[in-house]
Amino acid sequence: MPKGKLLVLSGPSGAGKSTVVARLMTMRDDVCFSVSATTRPPRPGEVDGVNYFFVTRERFDEMVRDNALLEHAEYVGNCYGTPRDYVAQKLDTGMNVILDIEVQGAKQVMEKAPDAIPVFLMPPSLLELERRLRARGTESEAVILGRLQRAREEYHADFYDYIVINDNVETAARELDAIITAAHCAYDDRKNILKEVE
Ligand code: ADP
Ligand code: 5GP
Repeated sequence: MPKGKLLVLSGPSGAGKSTVVARLMTMRDDVCFSVSATTRPPRPGEVDGVNYFFVTRERFDEMVRDNALLEHAEYVGNCYGTPRDYVAQKLDTGMNVILDIEVQGAKQVMEKAPDAIPVFLMPPSLLELERRLRARGTESEAVILGRLQRAREEYHADFYDYIVINDNVETAARELDAIITAAHCAYDDRKNILKEVE
């Protein structure tokens, strides 16, 4: 069975990564979301084990020491990391795995798994990003400003293979869908079929 693809999705907070991934997951049943560990407190409506594993700083440090995280990074005052085992198990069963992670973590993943597909999801403008962050209403003013500053820094990352602009959720989800489909059509993945039909 062909292995799944690892899609590394980054982009400024508020760009719409969670929204677009949720839509993508209604479009394909071969995609799953890697639930990260974080020291950030849950937002209203967020569920432990669904949106994140909400952990203490002590527990997070323990996971780092135990090498249980594929990557980890600090983001505007909190720690975030990707549990290693889940990703490996899902890829082995042929599922495509989506990581919603910031740029430093994405860089770490690309070093460890160079065949992962890095995608940068952008809002149509920084003004619209600010509007979405404020409309979401989940962060304090200081945290919103920190996240906007971090967005400007993240725009300098140059190792992404694809950019998806999230002006419209449907279009952005269809573009992610196309990127995954195209990856499965790669010559290296399919050259065995050539031998089978010879
Ligand atoms: P992220 O996961 O990147 O931090 P979210 O998915 O939480 O971003 O989206 C941030 C806010 O923007 C949410 O309130 C969401 O409903 C809204 N949003 C997402 N995509 C769009 C879009 N294409 N147009 C307008 N609003 C959007
Ligand atoms: P939020 O607090 O808005 O859910 O996420 C803040 C930022 O942390 C986003 O850019 C998101 O992609 C990133 N993030 C979420 N989980 C992880 C993770 O496991 N590792 C890293 N490096 N970043 C993450």
